[in-house]
Amino acid sequence: MKKLFLCLLALLLLPGCVHQPALQEADLFAMDTTISLQVYAAEDAQPLLKQMQQLLSALDSQLSVTRPGSPVAQLNAAGQGALPESACELLKQTMALSRETGGALDPAIYSIVSLWGFTAETQHVPTEAEITEAKAAAGLSHVALDGNTVTLSDGCQLDFGAVAKGYAGQLCAGLAKDAGVAAVLTLGGNVQTVGTKPDRSDWQIGLADPDDPASSLGVIQLSGSWAVVTSGDYQRYFEENGVRYHHIMDPATGYPAASGLRSVTIVAQDGLRADGLSTALFVMGLERATEFWRQTEAFDAIFIDTQNQIYYTQGLEGKFSCDGAVMIAR
Ligand code: AMP
Ligand code: MG
Repeated sequence: MKKLFLCLLALLLLPGCVHQPALQEADLFAMDTTISLQVYAAEDAQPLLKQMQQLLSALDSQLSVTRPGSPVAQLNAAGQGALPESACELLKQTMALSRETGGALDPAIYSIVSLWGFTAETQHVPTEAEITEAKAAAGLSHVALDGNTVTLSDGCQLDFGAVAKGYAGQLCAGLAKDAGVAAVLTLGGNVQTVGTKPDRSDWQIGLADPDDPASSLGVIQLSGSWAVVTSGDYQRYFEENGVRYHHIMDPATGYPAASGLRSVTIVAQDGLRADGLSTALFVMGLERATEFWRQTEAFDAIFIDTQNQIYYTQGLEGKFSCDGAVMIAR
């Protein structure tokens, strides 16, 4: 026994025999955003980083609404088609989240999003008549799922823009977890943490200032595995006649959500759920979102309103630091 202990001790002390986890990273552009993959691993993490990059590229080419050959673009054009397994799984989970949020999140919203020109970079304010027509084509009532085959009626089209990054981040986090390494994965406004940093310090995630997104208004400190996802009116927008129009649509009006919020950050265990909720709660506005949070376990949120007042839900007490922020109690 004593011998075994001494051998183990020697192994631990032998320089070069036991590697400390080191930061290894990869950057790429996919899903219409810049992605940074950071992994803390004792071994060479290149195979893992490569696996993540391949997964992200594969999902990008499956889910893109603008690449003519993608299964989703083909389905949107034809009105019927089979989706690959992972896209189908994403659709099922997003439909469930759509129902849970009373339709504030709507994956069948592409008629509205494309009308405003957001994905094709041809942004402009449509006419009332066009908006009425696009609104009539949106919503889950136009979506039928039979196995992996999706049928879209009345010109309805799917758009996974509100959830794709969260889903992809979650799957990449799963790969890091399976490999037993700590990681922080940043996909645009989505951050996914996995495990514990080698120095055991908390993950620190900045809350972007809507007026200057490169700087932070506050810091979220978390330990362990989390998804932190922000939807903000500053992430994609255009201006016409001095008015700013952003990319988060209210399915009820067919216009950019005028909910009194500038950003919503969700902290949850699951990336897809966090991403879907960030969009949905932005559409709901502070009052409805607070009500939703009170009725729904297992997530927390930070809101910035149009007066730049910051609110955060009680579960983030002690984890979110920001001057002047107001806590929302259960
Ligand atoms: P996010 O940045 O996660 O809030 O997602 C916004 C993107 O999702 C937009 O660029 C649209 O492609 C799409 N989208 C906009 N409004 C909605 C909505 N109410 N429900 C679902 N997807 C939406
Ligand atoms: Mg989202």
